[in-house]
Amino acid sequence: MEYNESFWLSTEERKKYKKLENNIECDVCVIGGGITGISCAYYLSKNNFNTVVLERDRIASKTTGHTTAKITSQHDLFYNYLLMSKGEDFAKKYYRSNEQAINEIENIVKKEKIECNFKRVNSYVYTNDINEVDNIKKEVEAVKSIDGDCSYVTEVEIPIKIKGAIKFPNQAKFNPIKYINGLCDVIEKNNGKIYEHTKVIEYKKDDDIFKVLVETNQENYIVQSKYLVVATRYPIFNVPGYHFIKMYQEISYAVASKMPKDLKIDDMYICVEKPVISIRTAKYNNEDYLLVIGNNHKTGENINTKERYKILEDTAKELTKNKVDYKWNTEDCIGLDKIPYIGKYSNMTENMYVATGYKKWGMTSSNIAANIIADLIMGKDNEYLEIYDSTRLEPIKNSQEVGNMLKEISKSIIAPRLDITREKQYCTHLGCELTWNELTKTWDCPCHGSRFEENGESIEAPSIKNMNK
Ligand SMILES: Cc1cc2nc3c(=O)[nH]c(=O)nc-3n(C[C@H](O)[C@H](O)[C@H](O)COP(=O)(O)OP(=O)(O)OC[C@H]3O[C@@H](n4cnc5c(N)ncnc54)[C@H](O)[C@@H]3O)c2cc1C
Repeated sequence: MEYNESFWLSTEERKKYKKLENNIECDVCVIGGGITGISCAYYLSKNNFNTVVLERDRIASKTTGHTTAKITSQHDLFYNYLLMSKGEDFAKKYYRSNEQAINEIENIVKKEKIECNFKRVNSYVYTNDINEVDNIKKEVEAVKSIDGDCSYVTEVEIPIKIKGAIKFPNQAKFNPIKYINGLCDVIEKNNGKIYEHTKVIEYKKDDDIFKVLVETNQENYIVQSKYLVVATRYPIFNVPGYHFIKMYQEISYAVASKMPKDLKIDDMYICVEKPVISIRTAKYNNEDYLLVIGNNHKTGENINTKERYKILEDTAKELTKNKVDYKWNTEDCIGLDKIPYIGKYSNMTENMYVATGYKKWGMTSSNIAANIIADLIMGKDNEYLEIYDSTRLEPIKNSQEVGNMLKEISKSIIAPRLDITREKQYCTHLGCELTWNELTKTWDCPCHGSRFEENGESIEAPSIKNMNK
């Protein structure tokens, strides 16, 4: 079996879009065709902005096509951390914005008649470690203190051992590819344009107009726009913005197995202890599949990746008694204070926006981001902008991690200058030394999470250029 066969991408067709093959002008240029870029384009095109999406691969081909797609305000054990580090008002807004995003996605699905298996279900964070039970109880108190809906339980529908869990009722799940297909149809209906296999390599701004340089078939074209949205998961332009000192990426692994008819699981689960295991079910061809995802590590960490699937496979086989049919891996960005960065690309760039750092909770976060960015472009207030503000400095000021990250980067950047053998490989983003991942057969960057095929082709942002091999 291939090691990167996402359940979603293997079981769902995506509409194909052509490459950009001329210079064009538009109101808003969105770079990146994952759930963030497509959601932004959805809202903007509905509001009569002439919107263009530029995707370097295919729509939803990166993290959005490899996600678990739980739509929830339950982001691991998070609210006690938020109360302690950011305060009550912040925690309330964070919870409310995510609950609102679940409703908003449901409204879109109904209004646009998108058949994407959207379903309301419960979501649980559970533990089988007696030492974690107190943390779960503290989380229950924290959520209740901000008027959140949750309860403490000791039993769940799924046959796994638990010592305790926090239950969030009325959360949701869907098929992310069916949802993206539906949004793309609406974008096209509203005269938006989507281009695939169209890689953005640079931008500049002249007289308030963005000129985005695009590469397709070794030809270059220019997209001119008034507004620019960078939705590449990891922002691809280093300066301004300096996101490379504000974030890192983690890889997670995933498997899916067919469920036996007598096993009924509808709700969603994630455990507290390491290795993290996240569970949900999904339908394909009238069969139910169990998706088991997790066992993450920092991208580029030199570890035995071969072992990474084992615990997920064991869990899937134990629950379904069936073989694993799909196996895949993917990554996401984590901000230093664990809050997404949404809003202006930097304080120095008018009309340029970013959304990133979803820490593996991008279904609701991307909807929040799309609403904030659309409101900024339309000149409307958005009550959640202040908590997600991408230009905030606290994460950098307060974090020891920045020092570690800078040390790692400088080590990596200086090393290549001294290395004359070139047996090692270096990232085209900021020159960090890459790590060979034997399992995925990719070169992975331990600093910012860029990834390259064995032949040197850049496949994951923030890298744009291929490696010189
Ligand atoms: C294992 C795992 C499980 C997850 N499970 C959940 C979950 O259950 N619930 C949840 O809420 N979230 C979950 N997430 C998080 C969520 O999937 C992501 O946050 C979300 O999909 C990110 O969407 P995106 O559009 O920002 O990025 P992506 O989907 O990665 O899209 C970015 C796009 O930009 C394109 N791009 C990059 N560079 C360029 C360029 N130079 N030119 C043009 N295009 C470019 C890429 O090709 C890509 O298509 C999970 C994440 C992981 C890793």
